[in-house]
Amino acid sequence: RAKETGKARCVVYSQSQSGPPEHDISLEAAMFQAVREGEFLLYYQPIVDARTREIQGFETLMRWKHPTLGMVPPARFIPIAETNGLINLLGAWALKAACVQLKQFEEVAKRSLYISVNISPRQFRNDKFLDVLDDAIAFSGLLGEQLVLEITEGTLMIDPVHAESILSKMAERNARIAIDDFGTGYSSLAYLKRFPISVLKIDRTFIRDLPGSQKDGAICNAVLDLAKHLDLSVVAEGVETEGQLEYLEQRGCQYIQGYLTGKPMAANVAMAALKESIHVKVVPAELRQVLQ
Ligand code: C2E
Ligand code: MG
Ligand code: MG
Ligand code: MG
Repeated sequence: RAKETGKARCVVYSQSQSGPPEHDISLEAAMFQAVREGEFLLYYQPIVDARTREIQGFETLMRWKHPTLGMVPPARFIPIAETNGLINLLGAWALKAACVQLKQFEEVAKRSLYISVNISPRQFRNDKFLDVLDDAIAFSGLLGEQLVLEITEGTLMIDPVHAESILSKMAERNARIAIDDFGTGYSSLAYLKRFPISVLKIDRTFIRDLPGSQKDGAICNAVLDLAKHLDLSVVAEGVETEGQLEYLEQRGCQYIQGYLTGKPMAANVAMAALKESIHVKVVPAELRQVLQ
């Protein structure tokens, strides 16, 4: 493992990185307490146009701010919530809160944006999921097409027949489906034909060693080519360097998400970024007028 990640990388072995976390009873008990105390919050990471770097939307990422443990990473608490079912409650809250937040983002940005929300396998299979979805859309007043639901290949493959019916109902609401961590799951490409999918998110592990790695380059090119012919959008995840962005942009990758163009941030910080981007946009437009 350490070998794979290379010499320059500092590898810290924690429970979340060395496999699924053990069932941690004290953490689980703390989670119920955290729900009551309102310790869960949402961060938002910009998804930008690779060419202009303008923010197109945000991915919603859950955070748990524990009073003594500090920020507990989702890799620690999502698997527990998935096991005990708390994910249905947390996920429903996240979906609704994110939709409401998007409205506020749009007010600040003075243009249309979209919001991307992670849906766990258990949430996706829950009987109430479509009601939760309808409630979030109706309550926030956003258009279905402004909502992207991120699921993994695994979520689709657990029960493809059920998945097909849920996905078609999502499509009826104009919500878009993104395949998260594309290329890392256990699945077949046939599902791209069978299901109404709109977005592929190339996993960070294929981006990390660009532009140097020939193999990762070949994989990214193949995904971009596939997406182009299937009329899907592509978001490259985990873009951290200008070199990575340039490589992807030159090969037709339209959307970028990563620390380079914006870390996950609190809603008020995201709003400041949106306000700033208005100014950045105004300048070139004014210049153009002067030059004409
Ligand atoms: P994901 O959906 O693939 O989210 C992307 C992860 O990559 C996030 O980690 C984000 O902070 C991280 N990331 C983004 N850009 C970069 C970068 O340039 N470099 C590096 N090193 N990392 C980057 P995070 O926030 O820790 O979330 C981890 C996972 O937890 C998510 O992976 C998702 O599977 C899950 N998760 C987070 N929030 C939720 C949620 O509300 N519901 C559900 N069901 N799962 C969630
Ligand atoms: Mg995601
Ligand atoms: Mg991902
Ligand atoms: Mg991931």
